[in-house]
Amino acid sequence: MKLVWFRNDLRIVDNPALFRACEDASRSTPCSGLLAVVVLTPEQWFSHDDSPSKVAFWLANLTELRRKLQQLNIPLKVIRGDVFDNTPASLLQVSHEYNCDALYFNHEYALNEQRRDTSVTKLFGDNGIKTFSFHGDVIVPPSEISNQKGLPYRVFTPFSKSWRRSYLSANPQPLPAPNIQILTNISSDQVPRNIEFPNKEKIGWREDLWPAGEHIAHEKLQGFMAQRVNQYSRDRDYPALEGTSSLSPYLTTGVLSARQCIAGLRANDESHDWLESQWLTEIIWREFYRHLMAQFPKLNKWEAFRPEVENRIVWSDNPVLFAAWCNGETGFSIVDAGMKQLRETGWMHNRVRMICASFLTKLLRQDWRRGAQFFMQHLVDGDFSSNLGGWQWCASVGADSAPYFRIFNPLRQAERFDLFGDYVARWLPELNSLPGHQRHNAQIAMSVGRPMPVIDYAKARAESLSNYQNR
Ligand SMILES: Cc1cc2nc3c(=O)[nH]c(=O)nc-3n(C[C@H](O)[C@H](O)[C@H](O)COP(=O)(O)OP(=O)(O)OC[C@H]3O[C@@H](n4cnc5c(N)ncnc54)[C@H](O)[C@@H]3O)c2cc1C
Repeated sequence: MKLVWFRNDLRIVDNPALFRACEDASRSTPCSGLLAVVVLTPEQWFSHDDSPSKVAFWLANLTELRRKLQQLNIPLKVIRGDVFDNTPASLLQVSHEYNCDALYFNHEYALNEQRRDTSVTKLFGDNGIKTFSFHGDVIVPPSEISNQKGLPYRVFTPFSKSWRRSYLSANPQPLPAPNIQILTNISSDQVPRNIEFPNKEKIGWREDLWPAGEHIAHEKLQGFMAQRVNQYSRDRDYPALEGTSSLSPYLTTGVLSARQCIAGLRANDESHDWLESQWLTEIIWREFYRHLMAQFPKLNKWEAFRPEVENRIVWSDNPVLFAAWCNGETGFSIVDAGMKQLRETGWMHNRVRMICASFLTKLLRQDWRRGAQFFMQHLVDGDFSSNLGGWQWCASVGADSAPYFRIFNPLRQAERFDLFGDYVARWLPELNSLPGHQRHNAQIAMSVGRPMPVIDYAKARAESLSNYQNR
């Protein structure tokens, strides 16, 4: 038997580990059967701040994957390991039980995941079982691009140029679904519908917004390509519009690959400018943050990329202000609407993520780690590297981040990107009774029950600047 280990790559199509395992199984004489395995590690997920909605979405997609694997004669074993430390022994047990001679998996780039994979590889090697690993989560692997000194890029623009060159020279295409495998008499395990998390708000996964399944992800990708990608640069910053793809939960769980996204972009490209398109640039940001995480292990320990900036800052520890931010009760309607969107759907528009993160770090002067952790605990698309990258960018302590003096004025942002208050009224329905142009006006909004602003913007901005300039 060949064993394929699924993690954050819950797809049949364009799955390098699955594809290679199937090829090897068909080529061996006599033909080997194929077995798939997943290890449920809820305690580890909990310690990584994965949200209940993300876990529920992952499990629902796993159920879909199990169904598709069955059509390919690949049974799925579901084992429980609780924490990563138990994973090597659990996998080895399955491997022995079903007489497997090789294990296949796709890389993950965070440190704990890499350590787990190294332990698995060693244990399997010690037991005479081969392991094969592949890059399925990124298009250009972290080791493949470096600057002229042979060092990892720290700045996005040169990284993205190099990334584009590398992409063009390799011209990677998504892999097809594998062939049907030989039938075995092994039965598939059931996938649990949910896993209870201790001490967490029970914010469920919004199945109506992100239904599970690879075919759904592809339909959404095609719908975005057909209807919205051409206006992406124009619309992407307006949270009231459906201007972005909303594909992030599928990318985070690996139901869809970045390579498939780009194949979709290229297939749709009538003007032949896909290589310079803004949407591609966003996919490259995703790769940039993954490369940084793989190449700068300190990031995995929640350290700032630029400690020289962070060392100047004295974070304020104010639980009342933090709670107001978490609950969407700061009195700044764009911030509060974003936090309500997060809590109600597990997702937030990118522009609003930036406004909320900037508000917490720059104006409430709270440690970015607290905000990043809160985001992870609520996001259905919670992704360690992108979330960390986004937060460090907003707090001006990340690689190629916003300069410290760039402090978003929430009112200005709201007037620029939600002029008629459509977005805020969607999440703060009490604002519906006000005319659009008044919905961001904190004084008027108080008359319909919105809270008093928790800070005076000008004063908070001045304090923040002096905090960042502190030497
Ligand atoms: C503070 C903060 C926290 C964030 N946390 C996460 C997170 O946990 N998970 C996550 O996937 N993204 C995160 N992002 C990035 C971005 O906000 C989301 O990827 C995006 O809003 C998802 O919506 P979409 O799928 O419609 O994106 P689109 O605009 O359609 O972009 C397509 C894809 O590109 C990737 N992408 C887009 N923007 C970025 C970006 N700035 N950085 C990295 N990848 C990007 C995503 O995979 C996204 O699905 C965060 C950004 C900020 C500022």
